[in-house]
Amino acid sequence: MLADERDGLRSDVRTAIVTGGASGIGKATCELLARNGYRVAVVDRDELGAHSVADAIDGVAFGLDVTDERAVISLFERALEALGGTLDALATSAGILESTPFMEIDLAAFRLVYEINVIGTYLCIREAAKHMKSGGRICTIASVAGKRGGGLTGTAAYAASKGAVIALTRNAARSLAERGIVVNGVAPGPVLTPMLLPTFEDRAHRLRVEAMPLLGRAAEPLEIAEAIAWLLSPEASYVNGEMLTVDGGICLD
Ligand code: NAD
Repeated sequence: MLADERDGLRSDVRTAIVTGGASGIGKATCELLARNGYRVAVVDRDELGAHSVADAIDGVAFGLDVTDERAVISLFERALEALGGTLDALATSAGILESTPFMEIDLAAFRLVYEINVIGTYLCIREAAKHMKSGGRICTIASVAGKRGGGLTGTAAYAASKGAVIALTRNAARSLAERGIVVNGVAPGPVLTPMLLPTFEDRAHRLRVEAMPLLGRAAEPLEIAEAIAWLLSPEASYVNGEMLTVDGGICLD
Protein backbone atom coordinates (compact mmCIF):
# COMPACT_ATOMS: atom_id res chain seq x y z
CA MET A 1 0.00 0.00 0.00
CA LEU A 2 1.30 3.45 -0.95
CA ALA A 3 2.00 6.00 1.75
CA ASP A 4 -0.68 8.42 0.56
CA GLU A 5 -3.22 5.58 0.40
CA ARG A 6 -2.33 4.78 4.00
CA ASP A 7 -2.82 8.41 4.95
CA GLY A 8 -6.20 8.37 3.22
CA LEU A 9 -7.20 5.30 5.21
CA ARG A 10 -5.83 6.86 8.35
CA SER A 11 -7.96 9.98 8.09
CA ASP A 12 -11.12 7.94 7.40
CA VAL A 13 -10.90 4.99 9.74
CA ARG A 14 -9.18 4.86 13.09
CA THR A 15 -7.68 1.51 14.02
CA ALA A 16 -7.37 -0.25 17.37
CA ILE A 17 -6.00 -3.39 18.95
CA VAL A 18 -7.81 -4.63 22.07
CA THR A 19 -6.24 -7.43 24.13
CA GLY A 20 -8.61 -9.52 26.21
CA GLY A 21 -11.15 -8.57 23.57
CA ALA A 22 -13.08 -11.86 23.72
CA SER A 23 -14.79 -11.13 27.02
CA GLY A 24 -16.01 -8.59 29.53
CA ILE A 25 -14.51 -5.10 29.44
CA GLY A 26 -12.35 -5.87 26.40
CA LYS A 27 -15.32 -7.19 24.44
CA ALA A 28 -17.43 -4.14 25.31
CA THR A 29 -14.49 -1.95 24.26
CA CYS A 30 -14.19 -3.71 20.88
CA GLU A 31 -17.92 -3.29 20.28
CA LEU A 32 -17.96 0.37 21.31
CA LEU A 33 -14.87 1.28 19.27
CA ALA A 34 -16.43 -0.42 16.25
CA ARG A 35 -19.66 1.59 16.76
CA ASN A 36 -17.45 4.68 16.94
CA GLY A 37 -16.04 3.86 13.51
CA TYR A 38 -12.80 2.07 14.38
CA ARG A 39 -11.50 -1.01 12.60
CA VAL A 40 -10.66 -3.31 15.51
CA ALA A 41 -8.28 -6.22 15.97
CA VAL A 42 -9.70 -8.44 18.71
CA VAL A 43 -6.87 -10.25 20.51
CA ASP A 44 -7.29 -12.93 23.17
CA ARG A 45 -5.89 -16.28 24.24
CA ASP A 46 -9.49 -17.44 23.72
CA GLU A 47 -9.20 -17.48 19.95
CA LEU A 48 -12.74 -18.73 19.32
CA GLY A 49 -14.12 -15.97 21.54
CA ALA A 50 -12.01 -13.39 19.72
CA HIS A 51 -13.41 -14.59 16.39
CA SER A 52 -16.96 -14.43 17.64
CA VAL A 53 -16.51 -10.79 18.77
CA ALA A 54 -14.63 -9.82 15.59
CA ASP A 55 -17.25 -11.42 13.32
CA ALA A 56 -19.99 -9.33 14.93
CA ILE A 57 -18.14 -6.03 14.44
CA ASP A 58 -16.50 -6.68 11.08
CA GLY A 59 -13.11 -6.72 12.78
CA VAL A 60 -10.18 -9.11 12.70
CA ALA A 61 -9.32 -11.72 15.34
CA PHE A 62 -6.10 -13.16 16.66
CA GLY A 63 -5.32 -15.79 19.27
CA LEU A 64 -2.50 -14.70 21.57
CA ASP A 65 -1.08 -15.37 25.01
CA VAL A 66 0.17 -11.91 26.02
CA THR A 67 2.97 -13.44 28.09
CA ASP A 68 4.62 -15.03 25.04
CA GLU A 69 7.10 -12.37 23.90
CA ARG A 70 7.78 -13.79 20.43
CA ALA A 71 4.09 -14.30 19.81
CA VAL A 72 3.33 -10.73 20.90
CA ILE A 73 5.99 -9.32 18.55
CA SER A 74 4.65 -11.33 15.62
CA LEU A 75 1.02 -10.58 16.49
CA PHE A 76 1.50 -6.81 16.37
CA GLU A 77 3.13 -7.10 12.95
CA ARG A 78 0.28 -9.25 11.59
CA ALA A 79 -2.47 -7.17 13.21
CA LEU A 80 -0.97 -3.97 11.83
CA GLU A 81 -1.07 -5.41 8.34
CA ALA A 82 -4.66 -6.59 8.80
CA LEU A 83 -5.62 -3.09 9.97
CA GLY A 84 -4.22 -1.47 6.84
CA GLY A 85 -0.81 -0.46 8.10
CA THR A 86 -1.66 2.01 10.84
CA LEU A 87 -2.37 1.67 14.55
CA ASP A 88 -4.09 4.55 16.34
CA ALA A 89 -5.12 2.94 19.61
CA LEU A 90 -4.38 0.07 21.99
CA ALA A 91 -6.44 -1.10 24.97
CA THR A 92 -4.84 -3.77 27.18
CA SER A 93 -7.71 -5.63 28.81
CA ALA A 94 -6.17 -9.13 29.00
CA GLY A 95 -5.90 -10.03 32.66
CA ILE A 96 -6.72 -12.54 35.37
CA LEU A 97 -8.08 -12.30 38.90
CA GLU A 98 -6.57 -13.91 41.99
CA SER A 99 -8.56 -14.01 45.20
CA THR A 100 -6.78 -16.56 47.41
CA PRO A 101 -6.35 -15.33 51.01
CA PHE A 102 -3.00 -13.63 51.73
CA MET A 103 -1.50 -16.45 53.83
CA GLU A 104 -2.44 -19.15 51.35
CA ILE A 105 -1.34 -17.81 47.97
CA ASP A 106 0.66 -20.25 45.93
CA LEU A 107 3.80 -18.55 44.55
CA ALA A 108 3.36 -20.04 41.09
CA ALA A 109 -0.11 -18.45 40.99
CA PHE A 110 1.34 -15.14 42.24
CA ARG A 111 3.97 -15.16 39.46
CA LEU A 112 1.38 -16.02 36.82
CA VAL A 113 -0.78 -13.05 37.82
CA TYR A 114 2.24 -10.76 37.53
CA GLU A 115 3.27 -12.36 34.24
CA ILE A 116 -0.13 -11.82 32.61
CA ASN A 117 -1.33 -8.58 34.21
CA VAL A 118 1.98 -6.69 34.25
CA ILE A 119 4.49 -8.21 31.84
CA GLY A 120 1.77 -8.99 29.28
CA THR A 121 0.62 -5.38 29.46
CA TYR A 122 4.20 -4.12 29.12
CA LEU A 123 4.90 -6.30 26.07
CA CYS A 124 1.75 -5.12 24.28
CA ILE A 125 2.47 -1.46 25.01
CA ARG A 126 6.06 -1.85 23.79
CA GLU A 127 5.08 -3.57 20.56
CA ALA A 128 2.23 -1.13 19.89
CA ALA A 129 4.60 1.78 20.40
CA LYS A 130 6.96 0.36 17.77
CA HIS A 131 4.21 0.64 15.18
CA MET A 132 2.32 3.75 16.27
CA LYS A 133 2.93 7.13 14.75
CA SER A 134 2.83 10.34 16.75
CA GLY A 135 -0.76 10.73 17.94
CA GLY A 136 -1.11 7.08 18.96
CA ARG A 137 -3.08 6.50 22.15
CA ILE A 138 -2.88 3.66 24.67
CA CYS A 139 -5.20 2.75 27.56
CA THR A 140 -4.35 0.16 30.21
CA ILE A 141 -6.82 -1.47 32.59
CA ALA A 142 -5.71 -1.37 36.21
CA SER A 143 -8.20 -1.66 39.09
CA VAL A 144 -9.20 0.06 42.29
CA ALA A 145 -7.43 -2.96 43.85
CA GLY A 146 -4.16 -1.39 42.72
CA LYS A 147 -5.01 1.85 44.52
CA ARG A 148 -6.58 0.42 47.69
CA GLY A 149 -4.48 -2.75 48.11
CA GLY A 150 -7.42 -4.97 47.19
CA GLY A 151 -10.36 -4.98 49.57
CA LEU A 152 -13.02 -5.98 47.05
CA THR A 153 -12.43 -9.39 45.38
CA GLY A 154 -8.73 -9.41 44.46
CA THR A 155 -6.14 -10.29 47.09
CA ALA A 156 -2.36 -9.68 47.36
CA ALA A 157 -1.18 -10.97 43.98
CA TYR A 158 -3.96 -9.20 42.10
CA ALA A 159 -3.69 -5.93 44.05
CA ALA A 160 0.11 -5.88 43.66
CA SER A 161 -0.19 -6.56 39.92
CA LYS A 162 -2.66 -3.73 39.46
CA GLY A 163 -0.52 -1.36 41.50
CA ALA A 164 2.24 -2.28 39.08
CA VAL A 165 -0.02 -1.58 36.11
CA ILE A 166 -0.64 1.91 37.49
CA ALA A 167 3.12 2.58 37.78
CA LEU A 168 3.73 0.99 34.38
CA THR A 169 1.11 3.23 32.79
CA ARG A 170 2.73 6.34 34.20
CA ASN A 171 6.19 5.20 33.16
CA ALA A 172 4.95 4.39 29.65
CA ALA A 173 3.48 7.89 29.43
CA ARG A 174 6.86 9.33 30.42
CA SER A 175 8.82 7.05 28.12
CA LEU A 176 6.66 7.29 25.00
CA ALA A 177 5.95 11.03 25.11
CA GLU A 178 8.99 11.70 22.93
CA ARG A 179 7.33 9.58 20.22
CA GLY A 180 4.11 11.58 20.55
CA ILE A 181 2.31 8.59 22.07
CA VAL A 182 -0.12 9.21 24.92
CA VAL A 183 -0.70 6.59 27.65
CA ASN A 184 -3.52 6.57 30.19
CA GLY A 185 -5.38 3.91 32.12
CA VAL A 186 -8.65 3.18 33.85
CA ALA A 187 -9.04 1.80 37.37
CA PRO A 188 -12.46 0.14 37.46
CA GLY A 189 -14.37 -0.90 40.57
CA PRO A 190 -16.51 -4.07 40.37
CA VAL A 191 -17.70 -4.85 36.84
CA LEU A 192 -20.23 -7.55 35.88
CA THR A 193 -18.01 -9.69 33.66
CA PRO A 194 -17.14 -13.41 33.53
CA MET A 195 -14.16 -12.56 35.75
CA LEU A 196 -16.25 -11.23 38.63
CA LEU A 197 -19.58 -13.04 38.30
CA PRO A 198 -18.47 -16.42 39.74
CA THR A 199 -17.35 -14.66 42.94
CA PHE A 200 -20.81 -13.05 43.19
CA GLU A 201 -22.35 -16.50 43.68
CA ASP A 202 -21.35 -15.94 47.31
CA ARG A 203 -24.30 -13.70 48.19
CA ALA A 204 -22.70 -12.14 51.27
CA HIS A 205 -19.63 -11.22 49.20
CA ARG A 206 -21.77 -9.76 46.45
CA LEU A 207 -23.77 -7.63 48.89
CA ARG A 208 -20.56 -6.38 50.55
CA VAL A 209 -18.93 -5.45 47.24
CA GLU A 210 -22.05 -3.86 45.77
CA ALA A 211 -22.45 -1.72 48.87
CA MET A 212 -19.01 -0.16 48.39
CA PRO A 213 -19.63 2.22 45.46
CA LEU A 214 -21.78 5.23 46.31
CA LEU A 215 -23.91 4.15 43.34
CA GLY A 216 -24.68 0.89 45.22
CA ARG A 217 -24.06 -1.46 42.31
CA ALA A 218 -21.39 -2.99 40.11
CA ALA A 219 -20.76 -1.53 36.64
CA GLU A 220 -21.83 -2.92 33.31
CA PRO A 221 -18.78 -3.55 31.04
CA LEU A 222 -19.94 -0.81 28.68
CA GLU A 223 -19.62 1.76 31.46
CA ILE A 224 -15.89 1.04 31.62
CA ALA A 225 -15.57 0.80 27.84
CA GLU A 226 -16.99 4.34 27.53
CA ALA A 227 -14.14 5.68 29.66
CA ILE A 228 -11.56 3.67 27.71
CA ALA A 229 -12.95 4.85 24.38
CA TRP A 230 -12.80 8.45 25.54
CA LEU A 231 -9.19 8.12 26.70
CA LEU A 232 -8.34 6.59 23.30
CA SER A 233 -10.12 9.34 21.39
CA PRO A 234 -8.63 12.56 20.04
CA GLU A 235 -11.12 14.39 22.31
CA ALA A 236 -8.94 13.45 25.30
CA SER A 237 -6.05 15.25 23.62
CA TYR A 238 -4.47 16.81 26.74
CA VAL A 239 -4.98 13.86 29.12
CA ASN A 240 -1.72 11.95 29.60
CA GLY A 241 -0.28 9.68 32.30
CA GLU A 242 -3.69 9.69 33.99
CA MET A 243 -5.37 6.82 35.82
CA LEU A 244 -9.10 7.44 35.52
CA THR A 245 -10.97 5.80 38.38
CA VAL A 246 -14.31 4.40 37.18
CA ASP A 247 -15.71 2.91 40.37
CA GLY A 248 -19.13 4.39 41.06
CA GLY A 249 -17.61 6.31 43.96
CA ILE A 250 -15.42 3.97 46.04
CA CYS A 251 -12.07 5.73 46.11
CA LEU A 252 -13.24 9.36 46.09
CA ASP A 253 -9.70 10.59 45.55
P1 NAD B 1 -12.79 -11.28 31.59
O1 NAD B 1 -12.31 -12.54 32.24
O2 NAD B 1 -14.21 -11.17 31.18
O3 NAD B 1 -11.86 -10.92 30.34
C1 NAD B 1 -10.47 -11.06 30.38
C2 NAD B 1 -10.00 -11.59 29.05
O4 NAD B 1 -8.58 -11.66 29.09
C3 NAD B 1 -10.52 -13.01 28.75
O5 NAD B 1 -11.13 -13.05 27.48
C4 NAD B 1 -9.27 -13.87 28.80
O6 NAD B 1 -9.29 -14.96 27.87
C5 NAD B 1 -8.19 -12.86 28.43
N1 NAD B 1 -6.88 -13.27 28.90
C6 NAD B 1 -6.53 -13.70 30.13
N2 NAD B 1 -5.24 -14.03 30.15
C7 NAD B 1 -4.75 -13.82 28.92
C8 NAD B 1 -3.48 -14.00 28.31
N3 NAD B 1 -2.43 -14.49 29.00
N4 NAD B 1 -3.32 -13.63 27.02
C9 NAD B 1 -4.36 -13.16 26.29
N5 NAD B 1 -5.61 -13.01 26.81
C10 NAD B 1 -5.79 -13.33 28.11
O7 NAD B 1 -12.42 -10.14 32.64
P2 NAD B 1 -12.75 -8.57 32.67
O8 NAD B 1 -13.49 -8.33 33.92
O9 NAD B 1 -13.28 -8.09 31.39
O10 NAD B 1 -11.26 -8.04 32.89
C11 NAD B 1 -10.59 -7.20 31.97
C12 NAD B 1 -9.56 -6.40 32.72
O11 NAD B 1 -10.24 -5.55 33.64
C13 NAD B 1 -8.62 -7.26 33.57
O12 NAD B 1 -7.32 -6.72 33.52
C14 NAD B 1 -9.18 -7.12 34.96
O13 NAD B 1 -8.19 -7.30 35.94
C15 NAD B 1 -9.67 -5.69 34.91
N6 NAD B 1 -10.66 -5.37 35.93
C16 NAD B 1 -11.82 -6.09 36.04
C17 NAD B 1 -12.72 -5.76 37.04
C18 NAD B 1 -14.01 -6.52 37.23
O14 NAD B 1 -14.65 -6.35 38.27
N7 NAD B 1 -14.44 -7.33 36.29
C19 NAD B 1 -12.45 -4.69 37.90
C20 NAD B 1 -11.26 -3.99 37.76
C21 NAD B 1 -10.38 -4.33 36.76
